[in-house]
Amino acid sequence: MKKPQLNPNDMRTYPVQKSPCLTCPFAGREPLILADFEQYIENLMGNGQHICHSTDKNICRGGRDIQLAWLCSVGMLDEPTDAAFDRAIDDACPR
Ligand code: SF4
Repeated sequence: MKKPQLNPNDMRTYPVQKSPCLTCPFAGREPLILADFEQYIENLMGNGQHICHSTDKNICRGGRDIQLAWLCSVGMLDEPTDAAFDRAIDDACPR
């Protein structure tokens, strides 16, 4: 099966990591200590989808989980799930 083309302007086209990295400061089993927490959070609230192990092939689980919790808390998502995230984008930007 052919992989879908990744579109940097459409987060629905990117796979999200199934689980956080082992050393994820937010949800890893051996979490690293964050030096500047605000910098990481600000990046997720409008500037990026990754906050430490950057990759252009998928979306980071630790960062996505923070985004889901935040978007749900401000009423932009019904529930903090990837499906709700994709539904919200579908509503705002139909394919
Ligand atoms: S890339 Fe994402 S999942 Fe991996 S350590 Fe960083 S925040 Fe956690």
